[in-house]
Amino acid sequence: MKISVFGLGYVGCVSAACLAGQGHRVVGVDVNPVKIDLITGGNAPVVEERIGELTAEVVASGALRATTDVAEAVADSEISLICVGTPSAPNGSLSTVYLERVAEEIGEALAKKSERHTVVFRSTMLPGTCLDLLIPILEKASGRTAGVDFGVAVNPEFLREGTSVRDFFDPPKTVIGEIDTASGDAVAALYEGLPGPVFRVPIPVAEMTKYADNSFHGLKIGFANELGSVCRALGLDSHQVIDVFLADTKLNISPAYLKPGFAFGGSCLPKDLRGLVYAAHRADVKVPILSHVLASNDEHLQRAFDLVARTGKRKVGLFGLSFKPGTDDLRESPLVELAEKLLGKGYDLKIYDANVSLSRLMGANREFIEGRLPHLGQLLAGSVEEVMDHADVVIVGCKDPDVLAALPRGGDRVLVDLVRLPDAAERRLEEGYAGL
Ligand code: NAD
Repeated sequence: MKISVFGLGYVGCVSAACLAGQGHRVVGVDVNPVKIDLITGGNAPVVEERIGELTAEVVASGALRATTDVAEAVADSEISLICVGTPSAPNGSLSTVYLERVAEEIGEALAKKSERHTVVFRSTMLPGTCLDLLIPILEKASGRTAGVDFGVAVNPEFLREGTSVRDFFDPPKTVIGEIDTASGDAVAALYEGLPGPVFRVPIPVAEMTKYADNSFHGLKIGFANELGSVCRALGLDSHQVIDVFLADTKLNISPAYLKPGFAFGGSCLPKDLRGLVYAAHRADVKVPILSHVLASNDEHLQRAFDLVARTGKRKVGLFGLSFKPGTDDLRESPLVELAEKLLGKGYDLKIYDANVSLSRLMGANREFIEGRLPHLGQLLAGSVEEVMDHADVVIVGCKDPDVLAALPRGGDRVLVDLVRLPDAAERRLEEGYAGL
């Protein structure tokens, strides 16, 4: 393919050299003439493992060249990869000035081109930036329509500086946000033959995946550092602890627990987080991340309450009360907390949880409910129908098959989904559905 790469920084120059190494014909574009001269002389403008040799090789073979001339680069390519910087704005948000400028320049060049061209944003940008800001700029400058006259895609970059050439050829995944199939196909063709899964997703989803990765990386580093600080203060070898943690590839290093859903709870996680934070404070170690994990969880619980409050309806049915599916354990259950919040605000509540009813019937949980939760015990219904008949708002907090089979479709009742129902994607498009 004939490719133009805009912005020859860490991402752009590595992408340009690697794509050239893959057999594509690449022209790099930058506003900085020093970078153009360096590449033209066969030298990489950044210091990275293997980038020096690779740049020399692909420039010598004629597969990579560089220019400051935007119109010429667009005319001489079928696809443009935008890799300009998106630094922090003074308020902590991201600055889109370089993206806006490059979109305008490419738009102007597109106005003079008759063949279809695809514009691909690789820079990290917040969801909505492409559809709401950049496509309108491209369309205005070109006088053409995105998805009709030219293609647009968002293809975030997951390379790590230091190993970026290796990461390019062995990516963890390829994410393609596409305005139409032809745009996505053009991006997919760039990386043909590279390993890793390919995800074709809506444009804002592609933008967000980069934030998911980077915020999680930050959280992981913070987590490991805080754990290490506590270990150190308690006289433990933090690496012994983390080695044991990392060896567990079934639960720790896996997608387990990494699904958006309702707040966590139960008799272990909240208690142990509190214990760890307490121990850290006693040892004079500040652990702002660990200290805020429960606050974040509380905020999530408040979101669920807000979903109910926003319906404006007062008669509420709650399905599920235990802290997770498959148990009757009510200790620190987030559904108990949600029920108490609703009750405290005067909502007319009825609750059904088959496991809780069963264990109560067996006497297993009776003491706990009667001793600690008498205010909720008296709201427990004996059947799904009893709750359904009562409710104007139905909160789904468990995936009991009897409950799922009885859920309303359409009508006046509002469904608040805390478990991501199997048909949630479809229901999201309907009236009377709200999910976390
Ligand atoms: P960088 O600052 O190293 O490079 C950006 C380049 O864009 C500069 O050379 C600049 O001169 C050039 N530029 C600015 N305006 C231009 C224009 N109108 N036309 C052509 N060139 C122009 O940035 P980077 O580290 O390569 O990051 C680029 C983007 O990729 C950012 O959004 C960043 O968040 C994202 N990203 C970076 C990394 C990384 O490890 N650095 C990894 C993944 C994603």
